[in-house]
Amino acid sequence: NSSLHELDPEVAAAVDAELHRQQSTLEMIASENFAPVAVMEAQGSVLTNKYAEGYPGRRYYGGCEHVDVTEQIAIDRVKELFGAEAANVQPHSGAQANAAAMFALLKPGDTILGLNLAHGGHLTHGMKINFSGKLYNVVPYHVDEKTNLVDMDEVERLAKEHRPQLIVAGWSAYPRQLDFAAFRRIADEVGAYLMVDMAHFAGLVAAGLHPSPVPHAHIVTTTTHKTLGGPRGGVILSTAELAKKINSAVFPGQQGGPLEHVIAAKAVAFKVAASQEFKDRQRRTLEGAKILAERLTRPDATEAGVSVLSGGTDVHLVLVDLRNSELDGQQAEDRLHGIGITVNRNAIPNDPRPPMITSGLRIGTPALATRGFGAEEFREVADVIAEALKPSCDAESLTSRVSALAAKFPLYPGLG
Ligand code: PLP
Repeated sequence: NSSLHELDPEVAAAVDAELHRQQSTLEMIASENFAPVAVMEAQGSVLTNKYAEGYPGRRYYGGCEHVDVTEQIAIDRVKELFGAEAANVQPHSGAQANAAAMFALLKPGDTILGLNLAHGGHLTHGMKINFSGKLYNVVPYHVDEKTNLVDMDEVERLAKEHRPQLIVAGWSAYPRQLDFAAFRRIADEVGAYLMVDMAHFAGLVAAGLHPSPVPHAHIVTTTTHKTLGGPRGGVILSTAELAKKINSAVFPGQQGGPLEHVIAAKAVAFKVAASQEFKDRQRRTLEGAKILAERLTRPDATEAGVSVLSGGTDVHLVLVDLRNSELDGQQAEDRLHGIGITVNRNAIPNDPRPPMITSGLRIGTPALATRGFGAEEFREVADVIAEALKPSCDAESLTSRVSALAAKFPLYPGLG
C-alpha cells in the first residue's frame, strides 16, 4: 500500500507537473473547470473497486448497499437541480450519454438533425466518422452566414423536408442561447424527438442564469465537468415516460459496470451546484465572458484584425474571429500559451483554413471564475489577451501580468 510517489515516481512526477501547470497558468479552455477537492476525494475513493451493474436496489452484484446510497443521492440531486422527472447518472462521459440517448430513441439508419461540427456542433451530433454519423442518416443545420446565429428557418425547412426521428439542439462552440421552444415546436410538427445537449451551459442553467431546456426537450444530456464543475462524466435527464428506455440503453445497451466513484463525485458536485457560492460563480463566469467580448471588439482589437463572432456573448465563452488577423488560430493559441494562457483554436463557420490550423479561438471563463476571478481580474486578463493578439507584443511583460493574476488566486493550495 505504497503512496503514488513511492510506487510510481514517473507517474507521480507528471501529476505534480500538471498540478503546477494548472496553478501557475490561466485556464481558459471553455470546456474545462477545476473540480472541488471534495469531488476529487470522492472520485479517488474506494468506490472505484466496486462492481454494480444495474441500478440502485436492482443490481447484478452483491455488496452494493453503499454505492446504492451514493448513486441514489446523485439521481435525486440532479433531478432536483434541473427539475427533471428522471435521471441516469451512469454515462461515463458526454459522448456516452449522447450515444445511449440516441440508442434509446433511434434505429440505425434513422434520420437526425444536428448542428454542423464546423458551425459549433459536437462530434456526437452527426460528424461523419463519429458513431452518430456512421449509424444514423445525418442532416446538418448551420448558423446564418451574416448573423452567425443558428438559422431556425433552415432547421424548420430541413425538418419538414427530411422528417427526422430526432432533432439535436446543443453546441460546443456557440456564444448565444438557443430557442428551445422553437426547436420543440418544429420537432412536434414533424413528429421528432427533441434532445438538448446542454453539456456546455448546464452550470448556467443550474444557476438560473440561462433558460432551461428541461421543460421543452424529451431528453437532455450533459457532461458534469464543464460549467457544472464536477468530475468528468455524463448524465441523461428525461421525461418519466422515457426513463426505462434510457436506463436500458445505458446498461446493458452501451455500458457495463458504472463508475461508482465518479457517480459519488457527481453527487457531491450537484450539492455544490445548488449552493449560493455556485450561483455567484456562474454570475462571474458570464460577467467575465461579456468583459472579454467587449474588450476584443474595441477599436485597437479591430485594427489588429480581431473580432468576436456574433458581436458578443450570452454564455461562458467568446469565439474570436481571426480571419483578418496576421495570426491564424494555431499561431494565436501558441502565442497565448507562450504567455501562460491556455485556450483552444477553433474553426469558425466557413473557415478558410484547415481544421488543424483554423481562423478562430474559443475562450471561456468558467475555470477562472471558479478560481475566484471577478470583473477586475477579467478586465486585466481580457486586456492581456487583446495585447497578445496584436501583430507584435511584449511577451515578457504579458507573462508577468499573467503570473500576477495566477498568484492572486492560489489554486488547490493544500495540494502542493
Ligand atoms: N456534448 C457537447 C456539447 C460537448 O461539447 C462535449 C465535449 O466537448 C461532449 C458532448 C462530449 O463530452 P465528453 O468529452 O465527456 O465525451
